[in-house]
Amino acid sequence: MNIEQFYPLFLQAGKVTIDNRKIAAGDIFFAFSGDNFNAATLAEKAIDDGALAVIVEQQEFENRDKNIFYVPSTLEFLQQLAIHHRSRLSIPFIGLTGSNGKTTTKELIHAVLSEKFSVQYTSGNLNNHIGVPLTILSITKDHEMAVIEMGANHQKEIEFLCALSKPDFGYITNFGKAHLEGFGGFEGVIKGKSELYDYLKSNHKTIIVNENDPVQVEKTEGYSPKITFGKLQSDYSFESFSEEHFVGLTYQGVKAVSKLTGEYNFTNLCAAASLGLHFGIDIERIKHAVEQYTPTNMRSQVVKKGNRTLVLDTYNANPSSMAASLKNFITFEGSKTIIIGDMLELGEESEIEHKNILSLAQELHFDEIITVGNHFRSVHPSGLAFENTAALTEYLQQHSIHSENILLKGSRGVALEKIIDFI
Ligand code: ATP
Ligand code: MG
Repeated sequence: MNIEQFYPLFLQAGKVTIDNRKIAAGDIFFAFSGDNFNAATLAEKAIDDGALAVIVEQQEFENRDKNIFYVPSTLEFLQQLAIHHRSRLSIPFIGLTGSNGKTTTKELIHAVLSEKFSVQYTSGNLNNHIGVPLTILSITKDHEMAVIEMGANHQKEIEFLCALSKPDFGYITNFGKAHLEGFGGFEGVIKGKSELYDYLKSNHKTIIVNENDPVQVEKTEGYSPKITFGKLQSDYSFESFSEEHFVGLTYQGVKAVSKLTGEYNFTNLCAAASLGLHFGIDIERIKHAVEQYTPTNMRSQVVKKGNRTLVLDTYNANPSSMAASLKNFITFEGSKTIIIGDMLELGEESEIEHKNILSLAQELHFDEIITVGNHFRSVHPSGLAFENTAALTEYLQQHSIHSENILLKGSRGVALEKIIDFI
């Protein structure tokens, strides 16, 4: 089965899914199961559930339905179909990568651009070699723009995702200490993320540049087209302010306050506002978008629990986002407890990075420092260093935290949100 032949069927389909629990009538189902028996069962079941077509890798079982298609690689077929579809879409694609803040920036850009356009965007955090093609395949003729989050933890991944999504605009949120293991240190991170710039440059596409970031400035020096923000002389210049821990921006006298905490979100807001202004959305509409966007995704979320304030940043953590989070949290009024979880995937740098964060936390003088995970435990000799959330939960059932403000931040694998109910 080749892509050209299959494409007309795709155009008639509802959605494309890889999740057999989410099949609706008229969908295309990609069966990603590793074993034959499972793939065969899933394929038959999908057709019974009303799937328009099913793509399977296995060839061993007897096919009774003409809409079950056999391919050598389900994944490759998915990616090729996405490339084919992308080549037929002439709307602007905005590609995002970076170590931290991709999802938040993606959500903000979506909120801003949706003030004027019909925008399709990465759902949740589907930013990898499967998520990006799925996002592309979810774009219909009714969409006027697309925002694509691209994640990576090793070299050449962004290059590959750019080849799939062919962005017309690209922005790197930051170069930080994330996935150091896979990238080969911080220099490796810069190189890996810059694959977005390489793609944009070789195709004369627009780079969005935060002129406060020296790496971004250096990497894009002399290049055009670009859209800049961050400095007075930039294309767009914003001032920051905060209102009760929430970050805001001012542009030409108009103040927009977000529902996000953390100074780093100012940069994310600026990127979204710059794109909005570039696409002719007036600042009042941008203000509206920024003010109504409410994070619900455990990223920079502020939640009131009784008379206490909880900052939930449990979606992920790495040394740069952890440091930024601690520096933001120390500015909160009143007593403060931090509950910090291990930062995973740091490879050789792990021990020193955990030590550094602990020292930073101690220098900032939080009222109480609680750690979760063995990486922190090995550098934090204390009764408040717990192996995992279960151990901390047990502790919390006997002891309570008295601080008025509590920060929770850790890597996804630590799942610190599990303890919220016990605070
Ligand atoms: P992932 O790699 O999981 O996809 P991401 O890049 O999409 O992460 P977000 O989920 O938006 O990032 O944010 C994760 C955390 O990173 C936030 O909760 C915050 O602590 C931190 N963060 C957000 N924006 C920035 C930024 N511009 N610079 C540094 N840290 C940031
Ligand atoms: Mg993300």
